[in-house]
Amino acid sequence: MCRECKRYGKTTPATTVHHIHPLDSYPELALVSNNLISLCATCHDAMHDRTSRELTGAGDQWMQRVSPPSQN
Ligand SMILES: [Zn+2]
Repeated sequence: MCRECKRYGKTTPATTVHHIHPLDSYPELALVSNNLISLCATCHDAMHDRTSRELTGAGDQWMQRVSPPSQN
C-alpha cells in the first residue's frame, strides 16, 4: 500500500518504491529497507521534480522524518 496516501487516510496499491535519501547522494543505501517506502505512481511523481528529478518539499519531508542509517 502507498505510504503517502496512507498519511491522508487513503488506501492505494503501491506500484513503486521511493528511495528517501537519493541514490545520487547515498548509493550505499540502495538496498537498505529503512531508506525505501512503497508509493503509488502519483505520490512518487510528487516526490521528485519532473524535470530536474530533485526532491520536492514532499520528498524533503520524508528525509527529515527518516534519518539515514549511521555509517561505520
Ligand atoms: Zn499514493
